[in-house]
Amino acid sequence: MSVLAERRMARQVSVGGVRIGGGAPVSVQSMTNTRTEDAPATLAQIARMADAGCDIVRVAVPGREAAAALREIVAGSPIPVVADVHFDHRLALAAAEAGAHGLRINPGNIGGLGRAREVADAARARGIPIRIGVNAGSLERDILEREGRPTAAGMVESAMRHAEILESAGFRDIVLSLKASDVLMTVEANRLVAARCDHPLHLGVTEAGTVATGAVRSAVGIGLLLAEGIGDTIRVSLAGPPEEEVRAGRAILSSLGLRRRGVTVIACPTCGRTTLDVQRIAERVEAETASLHADLVVAVMGCAVNGPGEAREADVGIAGGGETVVLFRKGERVAVIEGTLALERLLSEVREMAGRATAGPGPRGNTEGGR
Ligand code: SF4
Repeated sequence: MSVLAERRMARQVSVGGVRIGGGAPVSVQSMTNTRTEDAPATLAQIARMADAGCDIVRVAVPGREAAAALREIVAGSPIPVVADVHFDHRLALAAAEAGAHGLRINPGNIGGLGRAREVADAARARGIPIRIGVNAGSLERDILEREGRPTAAGMVESAMRHAEILESAGFRDIVLSLKASDVLMTVEANRLVAARCDHPLHLGVTEAGTVATGAVRSAVGIGLLLAEGIGDTIRVSLAGPPEEEVRAGRAILSSLGLRRRGVTVIACPTCGRTTLDVQRIAERVEAETASLHADLVVAVMGCAVNGPGEAREADVGIAGGGETVVLFRKGERVAVIEGTLALERLLSEVREMAGRATAGPGPRGNTEGGR
């Protein structure tokens, strides 16, 4: 029996073929930070993000030049592209026209029902969904005055207002996100909204922080919600390269057993028995195997006495031993290697196993489908 709660069955939408909600695998999103007008630079970054496992990419559309560049970006992107628009409904219309696979816009902020209806009609005509993004830092003034400060209940009220505007225009392909920089407020807001509607939910903790602390804060917030069955797509927001956001998002899903894709490197915390530079080698293995798509666990362990046993779940690993290093598979010692050759030998083992796993049913196959 799963330790995770049964997933909330949200109404399903599709972003350029990637399904969100309705039992679809939880997807990983991120956002480019290039200038969108610079289509080649944006496409190069999207390619790196897709390689890291990004399912859907969002690009900012702050002006007409960015909207114009979207056509080239959509045509060249290997993954669906969502246009992020603030306030100007004409940019949303231009983005839809340029072929964006989804829009992120708040219909209550674009100057009236007529404009919201125009955007809804354009989205409906192209079969693309609209994500409403509520941020605790920018709630409507009347909600803030009544609540006295940003609150989870206030965020839910804001999200519902925006959604009702689209629904009143007969538009239902809506994804909601309710984000706060406060982790617990994010969790509470999403719990509340999950009980109030059947729209799919995009999870994230906003302004989470730098790569290390932001990833932890995001993992706590997103992880708590996913464990409760809440959430259909996620974005880890970090002050760092978007590829790092994707890797962190993937690691969250992998930790919960929701989706696996790629190599997971485990490493021992080191102790007085350590005879291997565990940190440096683990980082090298992570970097060198980042683009492999096979579902493999690789271990780097500090000593040969306890390492192979402690990392028994690893498909392959090395354990330190001074001049020589032990290579093991599933806890079984299979070779003793000269210490200086250990990293290269481990990498060649991983590449070979990855090749077998992606060519056909591998050790566990590729569990990309998730649940
Ligand atoms: Fe210490 Fe060895 Fe365990 Fe690493 S594997 S923590 S070195 S006992």
